[in-house]
Amino acid sequence: MFEKSVAELSRALGSGEVSAVELAQLFLARIERFRAFNAFLDMRPEVTLAQARAADRMRAEGRATPLTGVPVAHKDIFVTRDFASTAASKMLAGYMSPFDAAVVENMARAGMVTLGKVNCDEFAMGSSNENSAYGNVANPWNPGAVPGGSSGGSATAVAARLAPAATATDTGGSIREPAAFSGITGIKPTYGRASRWGMIAFASSLDQAGIMTQSAEDAALIFNAMLGFDPRDSTSIERASEDYTRDLAMPVKGLRIGMPKEFFGKGLKPDVEAAVRAALAEYERMGAHLVEISLPNAELGIPVYYVIAPAECSSNLSRFDGVRYGHRASEYRDLADMIKKSRAEGFGPEPKRRILIGTYVLSHGYYDAYYLQAQKVRRLIADEFQRAFRECDVIAGPVTTSVAFGFGEKAADPVEMYLSDLYTIPGSLAGLPGMSIPCGFGDRGLPVGLQLTANYFEEARLLGVAHRYQQATDWHRRMPGGIA
Ligand code: GLN
Repeated sequence: MFEKSVAELSRALGSGEVSAVELAQLFLARIERFRAFNAFLDMRPEVTLAQARAADRMRAEGRATPLTGVPVAHKDIFVTRDFASTAASKMLAGYMSPFDAAVVENMARAGMVTLGKVNCDEFAMGSSNENSAYGNVANPWNPGAVPGGSSGGSATAVAARLAPAATATDTGGSIREPAAFSGITGIKPTYGRASRWGMIAFASSLDQAGIMTQSAEDAALIFNAMLGFDPRDSTSIERASEDYTRDLAMPVKGLRIGMPKEFFGKGLKPDVEAAVRAALAEYERMGAHLVEISLPNAELGIPVYYVIAPAECSSNLSRFDGVRYGHRASEYRDLADMIKKSRAEGFGPEPKRRILIGTYVLSHGYYDAYYLQAQKVRRLIADEFQRAFRECDVIAGPVTTSVAFGFGEKAADPVEMYLSDLYTIPGSLAGLPGMSIPCGFGDRGLPVGLQLTANYFEEARLLGVAHRYQQATDWHRRMPGGIA
């Protein structure tokens, strides 16, 4: 039962083959058994089981949705009333929120059962989960490899089948990159589709919630409950709710798939390129047309992102001052000293680095040279995608240049680490929906992801295109050894 997809679990719950309580117990036991992966930060079995009992009652009373009783893990970036919410930072150790994030609330309303909170990079800053204040997360495919980041706990939870689904967040690639490194399916919707209410903010103009699952079909089922307009988030987009499963059966015959030539250039490792090209050939066999497109400014994505994201983070993280939120130093001389010591003790090195960069690029005299310039290039990149979408329906390519790297391999060199998001950041800057689906294995038997990007509000099409591939292949069903 543990290896079943959300769709399969939904059917098993519907037929009475299994109860929500039994499922919760099964996954809680697995999480305990695989403690060494360090995927979970907070578990409260009594809370989980109470939610599962309520789900079983919903089913018994005929009030069930397809997701009622399906377990889910939440990235520790979403605040939750019944579990601690830390953003994997010492700054928020033990913090109990008075409310649930909108995404958590939406999924709970559908009857999903929370297994616990999962590890991530501190304030979602990172690409390997090595920036968590609570330790590294193992990649179940290879204990020496990182699971990716910042949603590393979410990725490992789904890859090791400790949860059939996990929420995640993407600012520059934190859903697609860990999904690729961990051999699972991950999708971020169009910016504004998921409410950011109750999502601990990193870079507000980029942060977007999404979901990690085994398959595109599962992601579509969850999006139906998870997404939607929320007046409490001023950047939430007011659009009628839709059925994200509606295009799952749509054939890809005649679909124009754009391959950005800049994403197949130098830097891309041969093992990743081979798996991605094989996946594109599979789409061709199914009747899709491959067209070469160009995103000439995509390579500026990283420098642009590392101006805008730190700028926004330096502002967002100012609330952690030991008064309004966060850790407070135990000894201090006066107010200024208290704030200084609290922040020095509470934040790890990566948030500190970004606060410094962000404060610098926003300061008088540098604002125009850096921040404003970065915003202009951001617009150019977004416009390039719009030009590309005149020639193609979806864009496909690699998610990362290599398969998962080893612990410590990039940790000493922040710029090297930042380059991990070379192919994912342009889509994030443009606010486009994007996903990663498993498409094979590369060096050291580690998974490779195929990145698919669609135009604004075309999540249903994106999920359909991914689903057709998953109907024709079984990469998404492969499981790491040793987790049975
Ligand atoms: N790796 C990128 C960063 O460190 C993206 C993180 C994210 O998407 N949350 O900022």
